[in-house]
Amino acid sequence: MPTTEHGSCTHCGYDLNGNYIWDDFFQKYGDEDEATRASEMYGASKGSGRWGKAIYVKSYDKDYNKLPSYYKCPECGEKCY
Ligand SMILES: [Zn+2]
Repeated sequence: MPTTEHGSCTHCGYDLNGNYIWDDFFQKYGDEDEATRASEMYGASKGSGRWGKAIYVKSYDKDYNKLPSYYKCPECGEKCY
């Protein structure tokens, strides 16, 4: 299921909710059917499912071991949830 409520950054309180996925596609295509078709690929529909603004980060330690991935706040750069 898509996420509609991404919450806010636990560090700075930045709102992590982006646009509604359906709305973005509707703006792009100017057609409701086309917007619904496109947003279904993201598990979203009209009024449900928003983009999140958090940045997905994959990293490695100094020995090139893979570290757990996390989400970073675009505002303060901290791990946001
Ligand atoms: Zn933040």
